[in-house]
Amino acid sequence: MSVVAYVGIGSNVGDAAGNVRRAIRALGEAGRVRCVSSLHRTPPWGRTAQAPFVNAAVRLETGLAPRALLDALQRIERRLGRRTSYRWGPRVIDLDLLLYDAMRVDEPGLRVPHPRLHERRFVMVPLAEVGAFPRGRGMARA
Ligand code: AMP
Repeated sequence: MSVVAYVGIGSNVGDAAGNVRRAIRALGEAGRVRCVSSLHRTPPWGRTAQAPFVNAAVRLETGLAPRALLDALQRIERRLGRRTSYRWGPRVIDLDLLLYDAMRVDEPGLRVPHPRLHERRFVMVPLAEVGAFPRGRGMARA
């Protein structure tokens, strides 16, 4: 059985667009990538003295349970981060599990839908591009 999950991707270190593309390819390990948003260049938020971000979102069909999917995302983060960490530091890529089917998860270390999802335009716009909000269907179907 596979379900549809949505993953948010961001990078602002080094070749940010390249990092996002590498992450998208790596997501093939976690399931089938069904839809990829465009890459959005967005100004930094929070600590604004940083390079702009490149953000994207992916619709993924996966057989992994939410926790196993988060583990897979973190493995990919470590691998992509480690490759360039000697030069750019450890945070070259950020992968967030944004939505997992209509499921709500609230456990230590894993909250779905991602708690800050709706606050961030740079997450919502790519999510809408990959079809997370079809007309006539609310997010909170559960
Ligand atoms: P960050 O440094 O912003 O990528 O946050 C990573 C931490 O957020 C990890 O320790 C995760 O366990 C936790 N976390 C909780 N919910 C989620 C989620 N839906 N997607 C990704 N990370 C999550």
